[in-house]
Amino acid sequence: MSTLPPPTLPTLPGDIDEIVPGVIADRRHLHEHPELGFQETETAAFVAQRLETLGAEDIRTGIAKTGITALVRGTKPGPDKCVMLRADMDALPIDEEVDTDYASKNPGVMHACGHDAHTAMLLGAARILMDRRDQFSGTVKLLFQPSEEANGGGAMPMIAAGVLEDPHVDACFGQHLMSPIPTGYLAVAGGPIQASADTFKVIVQGKGGHGAMPHQAVDPIMVAADIISGLRTIVARNIDPLDPVVVSVCFIHSGKASNVIPDTAELGGTVRTFSDENRDLAEQRLRQIAEGVAAAQGASVSIEYVRGYPPTINDHDMAALAAESLTRVVGEENVLPMRPIMPGEDMSYFLNERPGAYFMTGCGNEARGIVWPHHHPKFDLDEEALGIGVAALVQTALDYLATEA
Ligand SMILES: [Zn+2]
Ligand SMILES: [Zn+2]
Repeated sequence: MSTLPPPTLPTLPGDIDEIVPGVIADRRHLHEHPELGFQETETAAFVAQRLETLGAEDIRTGIAKTGITALVRGTKPGPDKCVMLRADMDALPIDEEVDTDYASKNPGVMHACGHDAHTAMLLGAARILMDRRDQFSGTVKLLFQPSEEANGGGAMPMIAAGVLEDPHVDACFGQHLMSPIPTGYLAVAGGPIQASADTFKVIVQGKGGHGAMPHQAVDPIMVAADIISGLRTIVARNIDPLDPVVVSVCFIHSGKASNVIPDTAELGGTVRTFSDENRDLAEQRLRQIAEGVAAAQGASVSIEYVRGYPPTINDHDMAALAAESLTRVVGEENVLPMRPIMPGEDMSYFLNERPGAYFMTGCGNEARGIVWPHHHPKFDLDEEALGIGVAALVQTALDYLATEA
């Protein structure tokens, strides 16, 4: 996608264009004061205060520690549906290497994924929706969630706390800024768009001994090596070749001396899939391979398999609706069919509960050196994207509320 030329930037509706400097200022404030997952207390206080000033209704704070919801109710007579817009608020444990006057003031913590801008854009959308209340019927629920980055993030406990009810949410939308996509493009697709993100650790229990007398030992390193070889067959021989799946062994530890066969070896990594079926199959095969290989060599294994976020799956109808909304913002030629990506995302939990779509908002700008990937200490985003993101959220919410009940 990085080979795309930067498009001509769209003309934004006047009311949105007017508030862009405020959205940028909010983003810079949040960028300067990043907080890690479930510790977003200052961020949440900032958001709550903004929502109060705007006059948003039913502001609820402290959900799943630092999460917030609030309502904007349309006053136009018509169907009474509720659409949720979601932003994440957390930063990453990274030392910022971007030299700006709004660089992180919290050493070791940085907004390196753009969640500062997600929060600021949702506040901007809230402002526009408040001003346009007479132009729509139904309710927009604004949701600011803690901790997307750390596995076991904020979406699940917010759902458990009841954020999808009272009022009942009928559909949900959200966006992620994407630095590999130039500013001015938006991307969306129906079906799976981000992978499940599971992790595993296998501890091989062998029997230590002298390096010169392997016949008296059970070598856990040999077992670990054979397990790793075996794991390659999951993708090569068990998964449908047309389905993308990743099984990566990302660490292996064993042994200390060149004449000692150690007692144990440990290996671990990550499994990424786009469907529950492949997710179940990959876990099952991983367990069978590790246990079978170990048994064949007289060793044993203990396996920790931790399920992270499920795959993020956009509803086809909602993705089509969003694609039309995005077209209204940037024009048809600048709405891309989104290519699925392997990182996980806990928007998936909301999308498992309600129809909806998650779309990507380009924020890269090669000419201005904004080319670094997300989670990099030099990550930056093109603030020109923020007005587009606000317009995209507003348009999608209003278009959804205007559909027949
Ligand atoms: Zn991230
Ligand atoms: Zn992110």
